[in-house]
Amino acid sequence: MSEKGMLIVLSGPSGVGKGTVRQAMVAKYGQQFKYSISMTTRQPRPGEVDGVDYYFRTRNEFETEIANGGMLEYAQYVGNYYGTPLRYVNQTLEQGQDVLLEIEVKGAMQVRSKVSDGVFIFLTPPDLHILQERIVKRGTDDMATIKRRMQTAREEINLMTNYDYAVVNDQVELAVDRIEQIIASEHLRVARV
Ligand code: 5GP
Repeated sequence: MSEKGMLIVLSGPSGVGKGTVRQAMVAKYGQQFKYSISMTTRQPRPGEVDGVDYYFRTRNEFETEIANGGMLEYAQYVGNYYGTPLRYVNQTLEQGQDVLLEIEVKGAMQVRSKVSDGVFIFLTPPDLHILQERIVKRGTDDMATIKRRMQTAREEINLMTNYDYAVVNDQVELAVDRIEQIIASEHLRVARV
């Protein structure tokens, strides 16, 4: 059995609650894996801290990272870059620790094509109406952005078949425990030779 850590990719449409589920995962099971902090060009929201929630960077800085081969994956989402710095992921996996990514679907598909033994989990909303309600309630987006996010979400849900697992986010604690069960099962998987 390999001593490398396992790469866990949590993805799904925006507004499904990936961020909330990820934070709850970190709070409850945080000793069992390392969360990979993403880089983005979007502005920090109130309360967000550079180096904790994201690495907030300019487009120039982000594009330099891409050019230097520093990103495991990246995508443009609603006008901003989001991506996963490669070095932290590689180093942490090499140290035998699991790494959790929480990323949108285009980025997840890039990781899928690069990392053959990752575990890909798709978080789904109970239905699209609830998804829209959540995005509106969050109150951080204007109507045009909400419409774009919803259109993106419909397209993204069609990509579910590219994942290993689908987890319904009906209640955060339930979703977190389902994800934890998946991770525990994956650790028990018999290696194929
Ligand atoms: P938000 O602006 O709401 O924090 O994030 C917008 C979207 O970007 C969410 O769907 C979030 O999961 C995704 N995202 C966050 N970090 C990354 C990343 O490193 N790579 C990719 N591809 N998407 C990310």
